[in-house]
Amino acid sequence: MAIIVQKFGGTSVGNVERIQHVAKQVAKTVSEGHQVVVAVSAMSGETNRLTALAKEMQDRPSRREMDVLLTTGEQVTIALLSMALQAQGCPAISYTGWQVPIQTNDVHNKARIEHIDGKKITDQLGQGKVVVVAGFQGIAMESGDITTLGRGGSDTTAVALSAALNADECQIYTDVDGVYTTDPRVVPEAKRLDTVTYDEMLELASLGAKVLQIRSVEFASKYNVPLRVLSSMKEGGGTLITTEENFGDSDMEKPLISGIAFSRDEAKLMVLGVPDKPGVAFQILGPVSDANIEIDMIIQNQGIDGTTDFTFTVSRNDMDAALEILEGVATKLGAREVMSDDTIVKISMVGVGMKSHSGIASNMFKTLADNEINIQMIGTTEIKISVVIDEPSLELAVQSLHEAFELDK
Ligand code: ADP
Ligand code: ASP
Ligand code: MG
Repeated sequence: MAIIVQKFGGTSVGNVERIQHVAKQVAKTVSEGHQVVVAVSAMSGETNRLTALAKEMQDRPSRREMDVLLTTGEQVTIALLSMALQAQGCPAISYTGWQVPIQTNDVHNKARIEHIDGKKITDQLGQGKVVVVAGFQGIAMESGDITTLGRGGSDTTAVALSAALNADECQIYTDVDGVYTTDPRVVPEAKRLDTVTYDEMLELASLGAKVLQIRSVEFASKYNVPLRVLSSMKEGGGTLITTEENFGDSDMEKPLISGIAFSRDEAKLMVLGVPDKPGVAFQILGPVSDANIEIDMIIQNQGIDGTTDFTFTVSRNDMDAALEILEGVATKLGAREVMSDDTIVKISMVGVGMKSHSGIASNMFKTLADNEINIQMIGTTEIKISVVIDEPSLELAVQSLHEAFELDK
């Protein structure tokens, strides 16, 4: 008898029929003799609907109240799924994040899980029940406040539950049947990958492939949770996220490029004409980090006449807050001007096979040049190359790169 954690995303629980379908699937796993813990998202569109409602009340609603509001979405689906299971004769019980409890730090809207007490769940499993846990939710250890784990956070709930319960597999059921070479909604020729390494998946997720939330992959990698992405609508083995060793010994087996990820959630901030002297990067970026704003790509230009320009990117919804901070910093530093741009996107090519091959970057730049797409920023690591370009060129860039690197073959 195995312990299996199954997570169902928003589309998979998007209406009554789909919830009943999920219940059937869960009941089938139970009938095969397994203990099943289910993590569910809110019904598709619900988190966005609630966010829009909040914006009607306040331009920048408090992060604490947003968490209280958004967690209602998941509370609806756990109850409905438990009812659907019971209606099918499968004993089930629902728990919110704070009932489990799933304890987090107190960073509202992007809390990190610190501890999960698995006792209640284990007890209920022992009584032959399916335990349905709300994804995305937590409770801050010190304040006792409700927290959320960030958009897409139910993936992380599922993986963290798997780690805490020492589950045999964590299955992420979604509206695609696995991880593809790129988002199949943008490139219909994209190919499903049978396996992808944790490292590649970490890069893909962090670079915008929202099929798995980055933190879920971090967790899976850290605690060695066997993780699989599958379709909730059609049968199939999906994609297994695995360690590099499982690819076999030969480098030949490792694809040069595993996938292309992109992110529209990008904004660029530029501080122009800052004094070119030690400590400036820290003075600019320190206050931004202190405000819990994650900084991504950074460029500092070659200084001319003792001044330089400093550019970096942040998540789009952090742009206004970052701009406000920078305006204060710029005055202190005597910078000439602060500018922002939220019409940029980031495209990244990822592959462990890149480690031992050169020429990928130049091929990427040539493909973009051939399509007259201007590159604004470039960043590389051992297994990825990212470029920042104008948003309107996104689809063309991804499609042409997918073709140029023959990822459809
Ligand atoms: P869920 O609601 O089940 O959590 P998400 O919408 O968060 O589902 O994630 C699934 C979506 O991720 C797919 O519908 C697809 O458009 C998108 N996606 C982006 N990149 C990829 C990729 N490389 N492979 C598969 N899906 C991807
Ligand atoms: N409902 C949340 C969201 O839409 C969490 C999740 O679905 O994973 O982001
Ligand atoms: Mg998701």
